[in-house]
Amino acid sequence: MRQIKAVFNGSFDSIENIKVSPFSRAYTFSDSVYEVLPFYNKKLIAFESHILRLQRSVDAINITIDSKKVTDEINQLLSSSDLENGYVYYQVTRGQDLIRSHMYSDQIDIETFGYITPCSFETKKLNVMLCEDTRWGRCDIKSTSLLANVLSMNNAKSHACDEIIMHKDGVLTEAGASNLFFTANENVYTPALTNNILPGITRSILIEALLDSGIKVVEGDFNYNELHKATSAWLTSSTKGMAPIENIINIEHSLSVDDSLYISCKEIFDAKFFI
Ligand code: PLP
Repeated sequence: MRQIKAVFNGSFDSIENIKVSPFSRAYTFSDSVYEVLPFYNKKLIAFESHILRLQRSVDAINITIDSKKVTDEINQLLSSSDLENGYVYYQVTRGQDLIRSHMYSDQIDIETFGYITPCSFETKKLNVMLCEDTRWGRCDIKSTSLLANVLSMNNAKSHACDEIIMHKDGVLTEAGASNLFFTANENVYTPALTNNILPGITRSILIEALLDSGIKVVEGDFNYNELHKATSAWLTSSTKGMAPIENIINIEHSLSVDDSLYISCKEIFDAKFFI
């Protein structure tokens, strides 16, 4: 078995040697935030944007990090690995309590944990299920509290789906672990960023690349009924890249993975993401 290289509280080791206390607040409260940092040909993709988003996440939950140390640890995981393509997972946790208590002590030290793992970034055609967004009100924070995503995605899995598309009171938000785009009338649409959506780094790379190529992207509030007339749709994330939706199992639609606007967007994206 391949040994997974990891770093816990600044010490590098293989993952099986790392010991975490059950009183870690990551364990008892999901009191932690994380990043998934993709690399391709041994080069981190949009590294600074990921570090900036991690900084925004820790600021939002009142944790202080040394971002130079975090950056060094991520770079060291990458340089000590022989992987060409993959991602680094990095988590920051509030720390360990002496007893389980909702109210944390101001004296606890943060815990940090990272590991490196391969990823093929192969483009997969997706089967998805539309469902209600039952998550909390701060989905813009990249928190490890992902129970609502886990439950909805596993319900979708039981219907042979790879992902979900969520809506709050009919308004499209995002997918379980990615952002949503769709095309209609020769335009590209994506839900505008709010507290209900994670500001995906891949989403922003794609929007910028499309704008640079003269393709307009409309960000706004869209009812899921708009998907009925969409000609294509896709999801973006650091590990999926840009993955086309082949089928939404529980609504009528006419999505095509051969849609010409989707194909143009995908070419523009791949040229920007995989460099
Ligand atoms: N939305 C959610 C809920 C996610 O979990 C993710 C990634 O894990 C994304 C969007 C995409 O974000 P990124 O492109 O930064 O990977």
